Amino acid sequence: MHISQLVDIFTQEISTQSIMDQISQISQYHRIQGSMKFHESAKHIQAILSNNSIFSKIYEYPADGKWEKWGWVSPISWDIKSGECWLMKPVKKRLSRFIDHPMSVITHSKAADFEGTLVDIGKGDKPSDYAKAKGKIALITASPRRIFSYAARHDVKGIILHPDLNRAAQIGDTTVQYDGFWPVNENLSDVTSGFSISHAQARELQNYLRGKKEVKLHFKIDANFSDDKRKLHVLETPFIGSERPLEEIVIIAHLCHPSPGANDNASGSATLLEIALSLNRMIKTGQIAQPKRTLRFLWVPEFSGTIPWLAEYDQQRNTEGRKILSVFNLDMVGESPVKVGTPLTISSPSISTPSFLPGMIRYVSECVKKQKVAKNGWTYQLNYDIQSFAGGSDHLIFNDSYFSIPGVMFGHDDPYHHTSADSIDKVEPLECRSAGVITGVTAYSLATSNSLFLQEILASVFSDIIEEANSLNHRLNKSGELSQAQQLRQKELLAQMSTNRLKSILELDFEGNLKEDIEHFSKLVKLHFNHLIQKNTNSEEKERMENISNQIIIQCNFIGPLPFKRLMDPSRSESNQLRLGSLTKKYWGGLVLELLNLANGKMNVEDIFLLLKIPYPDVMYDDIKYIVNLFIEEKILLSVEN
Ligand SMILES: [Zn+2]
Repeated sequence: MHISQLVDIFTQEISTQSIMDQISQISQYHRIQGSMKFHESAKHIQAILSNNSIFSKIYEYPADGKWEKWGWVSPISWDIKSGECWLMKPVKKRLSRFIDHPMSVITHSKAADFEGTLVDIGKGDKPSDYAKAKGKIALITASPRRIFSYAARHDVKGIILHPDLNRAAQIGDTTVQYDGFWPVNENLSDVTSGFSISHAQARELQNYLRGKKEVKLHFKIDANFSDDKRKLHVLETPFIGSERPLEEIVIIAHLCHPSPGANDNASGSATLLEIALSLNRMIKTGQIAQPKRTLRFLWVPEFSGTIPWLAEYDQQRNTEGRKILSVFNLDMVGESPVKVGTPLTISSPSISTPSFLPGMIRYVSECVKKQKVAKNGWTYQLNYDIQSFAGGSDHLIFNDSYFSIPGVMFGHDDPYHHTSADSIDKVEPLECRSAGVITGVTAYSLATSNSLFLQEILASVFSDIIEEANSLNHRLNKSGELSQAQQLRQKELLAQMSTNRLKSILELDFEGNLKEDIEHFSKLVKLHFNHLIQKNTNSEEKERMENISNQIIIQCNFIGPLPFKRLMDPSRSESNQLRLGSLTKKYWGGLVLELLNLANGKMNVEDIFLLLKIPYPDVMYDDIKYIVNLFIEEKILLSVEN
């Protein structure tokens, strides 16, 4: 069987109706990490698996705000029954209600039943802002998780969050944003109560305040932090491999988030479920064979469930020889091209782990793209874009150099995510199916690794490599930003990485059929790069040697994936905070994490910069130097003797 035939079979099997049904069901649960409703949503999926005779298991991890691994602290389990915010003065009316918009109550709010006077303190991102809100309710735009300790210091009664102008322009006048306090055990007593309101509602309150009218609000919330017995739940379904069960491919989706969260991430969770159900049907009916390696499906609370799950895996990879070969993360896969936007973005694995995956996914995606579907008078055709490594979701933990597991994420740019507008009308089930087919086919081919699949993978990775080499060459000829010596070095680094990408296929080839072919293609890659790397002059070589001897070698000064709180360290000076904030905004997610992934104690800063500039052409050397120096100062990075 060829991969394109597999694409046809998966496309026939995956049901868009069943995906839509499940998105509608899952989005009814207010599935905050560690809450009862999260647990119920996991049970809901487990029941469907069980009705189809598919084994699954729920892992339980602490949700007490104390458990810690690699500097990541577990969230605290929190449940909510109801909440209402009333405007009492100057007019009496209800502003929001939990049953209308569950995310209108700020997650982790304390139980409340009080009246308070509102003061507008602007953004509210500085401790001093809260002095004027003592004993009152503060109207703010800053994220509650970053400021609740400031509010506590000044005995602020509660907060009202509203979108700033930029955010309001994206999400609209009447949309409510999602946010939470995210306390840990240490600062749990600082948590206050809060509501999230729309831009239009905030404007109304601000108009009263401008007119010197007293604005009085009544908060009523029935919510509580649960006792220590409540856990974080991770649902897992393995399809155990028939020949190499310890080698596994993981497909993951975070099930958490507030209701509705239709695209983020009921879409990924429902698509993951439908891939598992389809796989089961196809194996049962004999359309495809049992996979030789294990395929493992995971529904997690984002980050907070993945960290303890991987901590267990970390032990087993040493004691039992378990090995995850690749990871597929489905996070926001259903965005309607018409109502939200396009394309389906596929973020590549970390460049610190050169992998066949992007080339293979491009090949499978092209097969999916060929399928056009007529729908309501328009033609649906997959529009996808393979991008550089991005952070922002669970795959980043697997990609971290501590694990070095190549993982991709399927997602979309979506202005409505984390708002009340992330509702089911924004979902296009054909988009979910495309992501499901690409994921299912790629994962199944890896798990099966028959020689036909492997040959197709090899050929597609090779053509991807040649295309990338040519496009880098073209870019270098055009831009003139790098010196001749730097250009040469960058091509050398890409050549090295490309050869390693080809070699990564060897890991799949347990029958050893492909060794010669891979050597052959490696030679072709070398020839191609030789052609692109023109003979360097002596002066270039001299410049290069001087440059390298001036460079420091950097190494990560911590084990495991760096927790976000260290990247956003509030104790950092304000100017550093601002500078890093603007840099990370520019390069957020991917670049900073890639810098840490590449800091392996062997590579110098110049090489790391040149490598980073392949996937992120806009990055500037001064920015990298700035981040490196700051991280050395903060002991996130170590400078190693050259
Ligand atoms: Zn998400």
